[in-house]
Amino acid sequence: MVVLAVETSCDETSVAVIDEERILSNVVSSQVKLHEPFGGVVPEVAARQHLRNLPQIFQRAVEEAKLDLNEIDLVAVTHGPGLIGALMVGVSFAKGLSLALEKPIVGVNHLLGHVYAAKLSFPQLEPPFLALLVSGGHTELLLFTDDPTRPELVGRTVDDAAGEAFDKVARLLQLGYPGGPAIERAARSGDPHRYHLPRAMLEKDNLDFSFSGLKTAVLYLLKDEPNANRSDVAASFQEAVVDVLVWKTLRAAELKKVKRLVLVGGVAANLRLRERLAEECSKRNYEFYVPPVELCVDNAAMIARAAIELARRGKFSDLSLNAVPYLSF
Ligand code: ATP
Ligand code: MG
Ligand code: FE
Repeated sequence: MVVLAVETSCDETSVAVIDEERILSNVVSSQVKLHEPFGGVVPEVAARQHLRNLPQIFQRAVEEAKLDLNEIDLVAVTHGPGLIGALMVGVSFAKGLSLALEKPIVGVNHLLGHVYAAKLSFPQLEPPFLALLVSGGHTELLLFTDDPTRPELVGRTVDDAAGEAFDKVARLLQLGYPGGPAIERAARSGDPHRYHLPRAMLEKDNLDFSFSGLKTAVLYLLKDEPNANRSDVAASFQEAVVDVLVWKTLRAAELKKVKRLVLVGGVAANLRLRERLAEECSKRNYEFYVPPVELCVDNAAMIARAAIELARRGKFSDLSLNAVPYLSF
């Protein structure tokens, strides 16, 4: 099965072609530079840029895949969650393609896509597994058992997502946008134990997350100590986030009795998080899977891989497919 997928849920325009064995192309065009002056993604600007970008990105993805359009068996597209205008551009494009090629279409949940980035790198990965999905808009613990397209939500953030906290704290520290990579860079030369920042909601059986208090704690710290060393604050903040993510994930694994962990989403690009979770898993003899960084951030190959799973179970969409900004499982 050859799948062409379109991803436009936020500020990356991406088109990929994959078959059941490998990625044939995965073209990603990031709008980071465009949104940088605003310190965050401007929805209207993102949607217009997707509209402008998509035809070229599509052309490049098909060329790099070195195949003919009629060799495509399935069209896949992210239909939520994400920015409504941005999603609509991708969904409309994919519907047009499905109609023109006379091939079926599958609407894919962006979060399921993030999880299936792991399957691209580790084809042998099978449920049961517990996925920690950490991204710009989500922080969720998802348990995959019988149906690999319908996980059980075992924990989620009650306020900010982990990536959002990275972005907000980077802004407080004037480290620029996007915040995650900037904080990670600054943290490399900082002391993670210099400032003690709160680790929220670590009660024994609570698998939900909260990061807004941590962000406020950094705000007050900088008010009290305007000349605080930026690298030390970044390192202390990163350590606090990583501590909570690792702690809760291990606790969930224990409670749900799973020994196979998967780390995905944009924040999974963070080296400290990858290392800490890998270390804890190896201590416990758990299997641990984390995709390479380029598959952790938004890309269409992961959407295509999730679409294969949906198609195998007969979960096709039709031309009534619509963008759903708050789509859940
Ligand atoms: P969602 O997937 O929830 O819809 P999104 O698609 O915008 O949101 P992603 O693109 O998956 O989110 O991830 C982007 C987030 O990852 C941003 O918040 C960014 O700061 C964060 N991020 C990227 N690299 C790193 C890193 N090295 N360390 C920490 N955070 C990072
Ligand atoms: Mg993005
Ligand atoms: Fe994402």
